Amino acid sequence: MTLEIPTPFAVGPVNLFLIDDDPLTLVDTGPNQATALADIASALAKVGRSLNEVGRIVVTHQHLDHAGLVGPLAAVSGAEVCAIAGLDAWLSDGPGGNLGDERFALEVLGGHGAPERLGILNEGARRGLEGFASSHAEVRALVDGGDLDFAGGALRVHHRPGHSPFDTILEDPEAGVLIAGDAIFAKHPAPILPSPPGVGMPADDPACSGLFAAARRTLTWLAASDAEVALVGHGEPVGDPGRVARERLREGEQRAERVLAELTGAGATTAWELTRRLHLRWSLRQPFHALCPTLECLDLLREGGVVFEEEHDGVRWFACA
Ligand SMILES: [Zn+2]
Repeated sequence: MTLEIPTPFAVGPVNLFLIDDDPLTLVDTGPNQATALADIASALAKVGRSLNEVGRIVVTHQHLDHAGLVGPLAAVSGAEVCAIAGLDAWLSDGPGGNLGDERFALEVLGGHGAPERLGILNEGARRGLEGFASSHAEVRALVDGGDLDFAGGALRVHHRPGHSPFDTILEDPEAGVLIAGDAIFAKHPAPILPSPPGVGMPADDPACSGLFAAARRTLTWLAASDAEVALVGHGEPVGDPGRVARERLREGEQRAERVLAELTGAGATTAWELTRRLHLRWSLRQPFHALCPTLECLDLLREGGVVFEEEHDGVRWFACA
């Protein structure tokens, strides 16, 4: 069952999922804010459960709205915490990982021509957000393709990076249900938010480009799924996630065509300038969120050999091949 928990973030409330089996399992935690434990306790009370009955917490990925409360929630409930291998280390240093992500986002913005003052804005916003993190030292690492066992059965664990390097999807094949975190949404594409090189992805994978390619692999995997529904971190469940994933792949190609049309005849252009012109997902308050869809398109076009990239004085420029 779904527990909708408020967050202070632009994304709105986050969905946690309670799996009523033995152990009683909570998927994701919500952010670390003063009201969070009370919010979860009252959501549990509505379904006749209490915090100290929660025996296991599974975290789908590292973002603050999903993992922020992991430390306090584990301490109060006494629950075991599980996360995909790699995310266990991140959770033991929650605020540090978030700061690393932020530094990397600033580097990427600067390297793609965003004005410095936007970086400062972003930094200010994210320094505030770090307060919504927490850490938990003892995390059991889950393995891609392994099982999460319950008295009444098991869920299959899939590491499917894309939205973030750690995205984990839990699958109940018999019921045709996926618990998909932020890997897919009913009404809009899932943002792809790269972390520094080596975080959650092979160290030799280029951080941004590696995650964009991983996101396409994850959508392709979802597109082949015959699951009936995906329960997701924000908003309504996604019915027929295979169909929705196929749509998202098509939309990704259409966005790339818009970027290519904008580049054609324009000469060398930075990704930030393209972002400003195209407004694929425009937000001055979240400049990294605004830039990433453009980078994703450029990555697809470069892979297809129609766009090339050059670096001058630390800034990358793109042009038609
Ligand atoms: Zn997320």
